[in-house]
Amino acid sequence: MRDATPEQDQTIYLADYAPVPVTVTHVDLQVRLDPLATRVSSRLTCIRQGPGDMVLNGELLKLRAVRLDGEELSPDAYSLTDTTLTILNAPDSFLLETEVEIAPQTNKALSGLYMSNGMYCTQCEAEGFRRITYMLDRPDVMATYDVQIDADLPVMLSNGDETAHGHWRDPWPKPTYLFALVAGDLIATHDSFTTMDGRDVALNVWVRPGDEGRTAYALDSLKRSMAWDEKVYGRVYDLSVFNIVAVDDFNMGAMENKGLNIFNSKYVLASPETATDADFANIERIVAHEYFHNWTGNRITCRDWFQLCLKEGLTVFRDQQFSQDARGFATQRIGDVLNLRARQFREDAGPLAHPVRPESFVEINNFYTATIYEKGAELIGMLRTLVGAEGYAAGCALYFERHDGQACTIEDWLACFEAATGRDLTQFKLWYTQAGTPVVKVTEHFNDGTYRIDLEQVIPDTPGQANKKPMPIPLAFGLLAQDGSEVVGTQIHELTSETDHLSFDLDAKPVLSILRGFSAPVILDFVQPDAERLTLLAHDTDPFNRWEAGRALAKDRLMRAVTDDADFDAPWLDAMTTLATDTDADPAFRALALALPSEDDLAQSLHNADVVPDPDRIYAVRRAAQLAMAEHLRDDLSDLRESNATPGSYDPKAEDAGKRALSATLLRLQTMLDGGKAARAAYDVANNMTDRMAAFACLLDAGDETVAHSFEQDWQDDRLVMDKWFMAQVAHAAPRDAVGVADRLTRHRDFDASNPNRFRSLIAGLTGGNPAGFHNPDGTGYEFLASWLLHLDKSNPQTSARLSTAFDGWTRYDADRQAMMKAQLERILGTTGLSRDLSEMVIRMLK
Ligand code: ZN
Repeated sequence: MRDATPEQDQTIYLADYAPVPVTVTHVDLQVRLDPLATRVSSRLTCIRQGPGDMVLNGELLKLRAVRLDGEELSPDAYSLTDTTLTILNAPDSFLLETEVEIAPQTNKALSGLYMSNGMYCTQCEAEGFRRITYMLDRPDVMATYDVQIDADLPVMLSNGDETAHGHWRDPWPKPTYLFALVAGDLIATHDSFTTMDGRDVALNVWVRPGDEGRTAYALDSLKRSMAWDEKVYGRVYDLSVFNIVAVDDFNMGAMENKGLNIFNSKYVLASPETATDADFANIERIVAHEYFHNWTGNRITCRDWFQLCLKEGLTVFRDQQFSQDARGFATQRIGDVLNLRARQFREDAGPLAHPVRPESFVEINNFYTATIYEKGAELIGMLRTLVGAEGYAAGCALYFERHDGQACTIEDWLACFEAATGRDLTQFKLWYTQAGTPVVKVTEHFNDGTYRIDLEQVIPDTPGQANKKPMPIPLAFGLLAQDGSEVVGTQIHELTSETDHLSFDLDAKPVLSILRGFSAPVILDFVQPDAERLTLLAHDTDPFNRWEAGRALAKDRLMRAVTDDADFDAPWLDAMTTLATDTDADPAFRALALALPSEDDLAQSLHNADVVPDPDRIYAVRRAAQLAMAEHLRDDLSDLRESNATPGSYDPKAEDAGKRALSATLLRLQTMLDGGKAARAAYDVANNMTDRMAAFACLLDAGDETVAHSFEQDWQDDRLVMDKWFMAQVAHAAPRDAVGVADRLTRHRDFDASNPNRFRSLIAGLTGGNPAGFHNPDGTGYEFLASWLLHLDKSNPQTSARLSTAFDGWTRYDADRQAMMKAQLERILGTTGLSRDLSEMVIRMLK
């Protein structure tokens, strides 16, 4: 035991892991549904596996009865606290029965059993099951389930296969976090899938009546995911039915409950009129992600929550592979890297940095982070690069064979790759335990026919961690001649020590293309001449690095414009024009290459370069760069947009989405010149939500005062479209108006803070969508955020804590802004009754 004061230190440590003394192998549940008085009767089959009392978890439960082997337990045979039920001196094997009462209607935390639009649903990851009944609520306790749902409702679902109306049996042992129950007035779209071993699986997507016309894309994505996992990983589905349910009130994206995935309706429902290309892509990715969890998460689960990346990093990697196959490698990879840098690099550079496998936490819900998910996925990708595609396949096959039905650790995962490939992964494991984004410094020398690259890795200190050891960094690279032809094709160099170098005998200095495909999650510190970057942009055989070269050129210019008032030079603008007008290149790629680094990306980079970022200046410089690009392209814009039109009916396929993305980029440039004329025309003829939102955003940027109203008239009855309406108005308000717009919208009759999608749209519309607005020098943005976090914390701590991360960059800014942000963080911390979730976040940010 630790010597911290017990009532204050609620920290849980990986090092303290111990298996339970008494485990549960089967759960029999009867749930009698009622909004305010649901009765849950449970019968647990318990078996002793070591010495000690059985401590069951339970929260917000009214205990009505406890029986052991049919006998009412006497009060001295158990003890009860707010969060536990302890069975004293339990025998070696027994049946434990409890009866509890809960009130789903009043559950606004959306954890456990709750109600959303009159429908009952559950969310048990990570620790929600304990709000349903007393149980060993931890992932290393795996049990089979029999569930009887009693209610007068047409649809009653749980995990596994239905044996009678409302009775479900799940034959696959699972931890509590994968339990689910749904009941209500729902409608399904049905389909089926035949597995490669010839079994028919019924597929259903359950939605509220009225939404059944928007399920086709989710179903199609599900079937493609099932086929892909069979083909690429040899993984076959294992029940006779797979249900997906869409709910409007959900804290996260979706949840992989065994055989009964529950989704935020935003990631299921799509029609051309209401969903954008980004929505379609997200639905495809998230449906795949949750389906892939059936093997990476459910059949093989996590021993404890410190191992979260075991299922999440791997499953994100798998969904990224799937999306690459479905949508094209380069554009998918660029999008994933943009997301990694925007969210994970930012996290890793600030007070919330933590290892992919953390060693301690207070509230596990605070660790569903970009580091665990996205950096976790990058580690799988590096492992695959290091052991090769065949070694990766062999390691995965061994993992599935060796650990099926078990609750595992990262050590178990890595041991499979060591056994399958013979490679020692001791050093690689540092990637899981050391936080912080490594910086790889690259310097080149050319002398007398010898080309030499010096490499150095530096891993920054992060909270609680200093003086880190070098890690193995797979650097994919190639060499081009100055004319752009490739002289050395892609090779992998493993940088394993702090410093290293590479030499080549060459007649002339080549152009280095390093970190191809973004082969490792690192920051390159490499000053490359513009001329070489232009060569890479035009000729590199690696499409990721072509894009990256363009990005480096743009970022350099924007940063110099911020620091030195530098102009946007003609060679760069010419290169951008060449890209824009290069009809041989993929439109999706051109759209990505023309997009400028985001305001937050620039703030991060400036901070890394020891410049205090000024949000207003960054905003202004980005606008100026767009204007310069627009002026340079002026004569081509209209024709270019025309030639990328997607006439006819909307098709969500990647090829058309790429054209729409390019066309939206061009429309933004046009708006810089015409004040919204082209955008107005585009808005009026749009026949799909992608084009409509693109034009809507441009009109808001241009200060149009009528479009918000008419948009609302058209879409006020559509909750998912109205989320976009709330977000866009805040994100596209002029910086000085943004807080005022956000504040006004919180008083709109359709603003409902208890709906996480609506709350997030508005709050993140400001904090993420409008950085200059959030960082208004008068401090009102900070005060606004803190007030709403405190408001939401009372009912939904998870979502409040998640959105508090907007403050995590606070130490980057000038003294005035720092003082104002710090004051708001302290105001939050000084509030009585704060949740464990939000207080942990604020304490970490203030350290
Ligand atoms: Zn997941």
